[in-house]
Amino acid sequence: MNPVLFQSAIFPARYLQGQGAINLLPEWIGKLGTKALIVAGGTALRELVPNIEAREVRNFLVETFNGECTVKEINRITEVAKAGRCDVVVALGGGKVIDTVKAVANELDAKTIIVPTIASNDAPCSAISVVYTESGSFDHVIHLRQNPNLVLLDSEIIANAPVRLLVAGMGDALSTWFEADACYNSGSPNEAEGRCTLSALTLARLCYDTILKFGVQAAESCRLKIVTPALERVIEANTLMSGLGFESAGLASAHSIHNGLTQLPATHAYFHGEKVAFGVLAGMFLANRPVSLINEVYAFCGSVGLPVTLAQIGVINPTEDDLRKVAVATCAPAESIWHEPFQINPERVTECIKLADARGREQ
Ligand SMILES: [Zn+2]
Repeated sequence: MNPVLFQSAIFPARYLQGQGAINLLPEWIGKLGTKALIVAGGTALRELVPNIEAREVRNFLVETFNGECTVKEINRITEVAKAGRCDVVVALGGGKVIDTVKAVANELDAKTIIVPTIASNDAPCSAISVVYTESGSFDHVIHLRQNPNLVLLDSEIIANAPVRLLVAGMGDALSTWFEADACYNSGSPNEAEGRCTLSALTLARLCYDTILKFGVQAAESCRLKIVTPALERVIEANTLMSGLGFESAGLASAHSIHNGLTQLPATHAYFHGEKVAFGVLAGMFLANRPVSLINEVYAFCGSVGLPVTLAQIGVINPTEDDLRKVAVATCAPAESIWHEPFQINPERVTECIKLADARGREQ
């Protein structure tokens, strides 16, 4: 039977967010298992691990993450966790540590705790790991058996992270409703092996409304390193709403345009969410969205500092050939752009990238 006949939604088992939430980590390791392996990125190792180690409960080992989510690193961490007899694996860091730890827990059938130190992407809640080659290019995606057991998000840590990362997270979150809407209207598959649920579509819309309402204040709070209700709302939108939204509603043109843009090496210095935001802009022209909505999204991007032109993601004076390369990659057969409920071809994509860039330059 074709599973896409069914509506499907998947979730992390528990989500905890707030100032000082990281202090609950030892307690939650004890609730989920007996001993944890905490895998930490460089910054987390310096700034957060000493505090966790200073607490009286020592039910964990600590391992340094090598910087990239590769098959080799997943295997290495798996062996460390096995040797330490760990039944819980904890990710302390950004998207790559998170994806590695989720894959390790899947190998070991261990419990997973995700402690994001930035809110720049929607990796924490999902049952997906994106694996890269040793040289850092995209390799494959692993669909895991389960979503994390706990996502533990300390808003004070996010307030102290660079504001550009929070804004990039808003760029990723900006795409969620546009892509959910496309999948809902076309009956396309989501990332949970089914079709978009009304619940996920509604969360995706709430995600859009939340970043539009609180985005500017949240960015300002982060600049001042102060936790405010606006920052809390945007952390929730970037992580929980966007995570549930993309996974249980689906992806469409914005992420394909992002993938296409990565064909140009000049874009590699920019964050995922920054390129996805430009994908949303071009996607709005592709979908023939009303001018009022287009104006609203451009104004939002301008107000929080998301890119609205190709130059702002490193692409200065692209040739026709460059744009063609981006458009062809955007329209590769496995891409989610085919989830859009209208006709797609590389020529249309090239035109819409040009339209989006021209509109951005007027701003
Ligand atoms: Zn994304």
